[in-house]
Amino acid sequence: MKILVLNAGSSSHKSSLFDLTSRTDGAGSAPTPIWRGQLDWSHQAGQVELSAHTAAGESIQEVITTDSRQEGLECLLKTLHQGSTQVIGSLSEIDAVGHRVVHGGQNYSDSVRLTEAVKTTIHDLIPLAPSHNPANLEGIEVLEQLLGDVPQIAAFDTAFHASLPAAAATYPGPYEWWEKGIRRYGFHGISHKYVARRAAELLNRDLAELKLITCHLGNGCSLAAIKEGQSIDTTMGFTPLDGLMMGSRSGSVDPGILIHLMRSEDYSADQLDHLLNKESGLLGVSGVSNDLRGVVDAIASQNPRAQLALDLFIHRLRREIGAMLASLGGVDALVFTAGMGENSPLVWEKACAAFQFLGLRLDPAKLERSPDDQDIAAADSAVRVLVIHTQEEWAIAQDCAALCQPQSGQ
Ligand code: ADP
Repeated sequence: MKILVLNAGSSSHKSSLFDLTSRTDGAGSAPTPIWRGQLDWSHQAGQVELSAHTAAGESIQEVITTDSRQEGLECLLKTLHQGSTQVIGSLSEIDAVGHRVVHGGQNYSDSVRLTEAVKTTIHDLIPLAPSHNPANLEGIEVLEQLLGDVPQIAAFDTAFHASLPAAAATYPGPYEWWEKGIRRYGFHGISHKYVARRAAELLNRDLAELKLITCHLGNGCSLAAIKEGQSIDTTMGFTPLDGLMMGSRSGSVDPGILIHLMRSEDYSADQLDHLLNKESGLLGVSGVSNDLRGVVDAIASQNPRAQLALDLFIHRLRREIGAMLASLGGVDALVFTAGMGENSPLVWEKACAAFQFLGLRLDPAKLERSPDDQDIAAADSAVRVLVIHTQEEWAIAQDCAALCQPQSGQ
């Protein structure tokens, strides 16, 4: 069974093709996709950078002059069956397509087969995810045109958090907010769910008996408190702006600051949006970079704002881990994932230092990046600490296989 996964963002489209038929590796680990492709619209208006590579090592990179996202996507998919990166004879060999969809609102607690009704819901949720849901819909429609009746599914970033109890999901504004859908949805759910399952596998324990805190620390950062396999609390909220400090997003700030800026400096909604999403976080405080590596380099050259940015990032991370700990009433394992979570021993050490009082101890011999998922806690640690490489596209492919299996033989 060949499954195409599409992860459409506001300025990039990432895509992978998995061949489940030819899997020879273990069931636990994620297989390498036979093809990966990417479109990046962020460089110059009217141009898109296309890149694709195969598991066998072939790759191409080119710049296409077009404004049309549909044309870009068609060019990308051509690299699946033409030229040096060809891995299939024609697009008709694709058995199913999985789409990452950022916002599923209150309607979906799991991945679903795409129907007209599901597409209408994704469309209706555009006001809650203005830069993502339109790109997701566009991807779905282009694939419908290119592949006809091939089954497609939507995997929602919000779905895993549908299990949040009302006290965790409700904002303490007027009750009408809840009635209007202004509530905590939570995001990065595909990643939190995948790493929770993988943690149970690595610990050789039943997920249903575990209390986990999963830390997704990429460009966007969020935590989830996972009890018996269900998300019971999370730091992102109505939008992916809430919670932790991030690369260029502020995370939680006193809403009074926004009222102050509107009153005293005439900030518009769009200006506030830009300020909080693009000019804050590590970038805003350090003035150097939204990338932790740039901030750490600047600290090495004695940049005090870079030091403050790191201290603030760690302070907020510890504080929110503490909040998740309280929601869970204990923790069996702390899990780090995504760019910073997978690659930064500095973040592991600094975040974990605050939890020594729990008996949490890291193993100094394991504080190095590794291509493998690993347990970095000391043997006598009362809490396990896992570094797990998130595999969102593989998680979507698995949901796709589960939902589309009956049709796959037709
Ligand atoms: P996205 O959320 O876009 O999927 P990633 O999960 O790839 O992003 O995370 C990107 C971030 O990960 C970068 O901005 C950077 O801060 C961080 N990162 C990646 N590699 C390292 C590293 N070796 N050390 C520290 N941080 C890293």
